Amino acid sequence: MVEHADAVVIGAGFGGLAAAVTLAGTGVRTVVFEQHSAPGGYATSFESGPYRFETALHALNGGPTPGGGADEVFRALGIADRLTMRRIDPHFLFRSAGAEIMAYADPYRHEAHLIHAFPGQAIGIRSYLDEALAVYRDTRRFQTDMVAGLVPSPPEMAVRYPVMVRALAETWEQMMARHVADPAVREALSPLWNFIGLPPSQCSAVGAAAMCAAYQEYGMWFPEGGAKAIGDALVRELVKRGGEIRCGQLVTGLDLDDSRAIAATTADGGRVEADLFISNASAPALLELVGRDALPADYIARIERVEPSLSTFAVYLGLDRDVFAENGLPHDLFIDRMGDSDRSFQAVLEGDWANVPLTATDYARIDPGCAPAGHGVVVISVWAKWDAEDTWGTGGRVADYQDQPQYRRVKERVADMLVDRLANEVPGLRDAIRTREVSTPLTNFRYTRNPKGASVGPENTPANTGTGALTAATPVRNLFLAGAWTGAAGMNPALSSGMAAALQGLSAQSAASSRT
Ligand SMILES: Cc1cc2nc3c(=O)[nH]c(=O)nc-3n(C[C@H](O)[C@H](O)[C@H](O)COP(=O)(O)OP(=O)(O)OC[C@H]3O[C@@H](n4cnc5c(N)ncnc54)[C@H](O)[C@@H]3O)c2cc1C
Repeated sequence: MVEHADAVVIGAGFGGLAAAVTLAGTGVRTVVFEQHSAPGGYATSFESGPYRFETALHALNGGPTPGGGADEVFRALGIADRLTMRRIDPHFLFRSAGAEIMAYADPYRHEAHLIHAFPGQAIGIRSYLDEALAVYRDTRRFQTDMVAGLVPSPPEMAVRYPVMVRALAETWEQMMARHVADPAVREALSPLWNFIGLPPSQCSAVGAAAMCAAYQEYGMWFPEGGAKAIGDALVRELVKRGGEIRCGQLVTGLDLDDSRAIAATTADGGRVEADLFISNASAPALLELVGRDALPADYIARIERVEPSLSTFAVYLGLDRDVFAENGLPHDLFIDRMGDSDRSFQAVLEGDWANVPLTATDYARIDPGCAPAGHGVVVISVWAKWDAEDTWGTGGRVADYQDQPQYRRVKERVADMLVDRLANEVPGLRDAIRTREVSTPLTNFRYTRNPKGASVGPENTPANTGTGALTAATPVRNLFLAGAWTGAAGMNPALSSGMAAALQGLSAQSAASSRT
């Protein structure tokens, strides 16, 4: 059966949902197709017994604070009043090779704590933190200009956003090293590489510094009900604006006519014609959706040049006590045995689970609805390669991975090791465990179809940042990209990228119609 809509959105991650809400808000009849049974992509939750587990969200930056990014985005998408945002304070505890740094929500207290830990390094620590904030401010100016249609030329970029442009070519390590010579201080300034998936020596200075500054200046926030509350609010707003979402529908192809997409086809034989298409699927998926023959060789090469970011392995624990609260631990606990992010990253690449950096996140205090009163929810997550453990016990036969006993044996063995490690750090944890669930990179792929279970789109290197990132526009004139693969890793950036993709699509459409 052939149907007609004004716009089709492929994928209901935050990029796709934000694009759809934006389009529907202008009266464009919009249909969203989502292959999973629920919207949200990575930004969702699942339930096991009396516990609700976040699949991804540790913290959002910005929250309802004006200037922090999320406030403006949530308002534009019509969901600000539907969410109750809670502030996380302190942010995290970083335990590294015997040393401990608590990161507080107040940026000046955070700075003072770092200086207390490294007396004599005050000038370097302060100047680095000031530059990180200046990078954040320039990235916000850039995003604000883009949304307003004030797209700068490359020479204008250096004038309008000088601090961001200077940092674009640098790794985070290089940027920190301009201020701080002592590697131990740089390690203490950068535990949030655990949110990026590349150590400071490899990740983009702009992405990392802007993310840290946003958290420090505008706060770490958590919506009551978790990331799913945001996805649900977006779906409600979409429907209110006349849009539609169809879950459990995999888009398998886009039909083209003269470099324009004319229809999306689904695995169950459906076909929807439309004038505008937004894809929230991964960039590599575009090669199959559109077909290589329809894309220029340099665009294909650009997509293929980019390595997917690392995937994740997670253990979800439902506890009959809130042991994080009992032990005075904050929302996130980062444990880095090596005291050296490069060596820790090497442990990830080698699948050395005894030494990979480990993040443990406590949810019951920030989101009491996720567990019965007095209980706890803790999620352990580590970076993990898609092809570790001989592709997680399947020997590469991943299609029916869940049914394979060896897959289950491997994931439970790795989970046991990680729980042992956390139990050694958090007294009372082991005895409190009532429920345990585990996810692997194969789980990530199944629910989001990100290649190799990539967690944050492409690797967050300097080469993939700024002008190196894929733009929303594609060689297919009425097809635009939204989400992490356009350099918008993280939930707020994914939302902004969806809005920007929709606005670019609409203005391209109106430019085309004024020419005819
Ligand atoms: C473990 C983990 C922890 C994270 N923690 C945080 C955090 O604390 N804070 C933060 O801000 N960010 C965090 N992130 C990153 C953040 O979750 C993502 O960057 C963001 O949610 C990605 O959004 P997206 O729009 O790119 O879409 P995705 O979440 O990648 O979703 C894409 C959607 O498209 C659908 N799809 C794909 N192909 C098709 C198709 N052909 N047909 C139909 N549907 C299709 C998928 O099923 C999926 O629903 C984390 C990520 C992970 C994995």
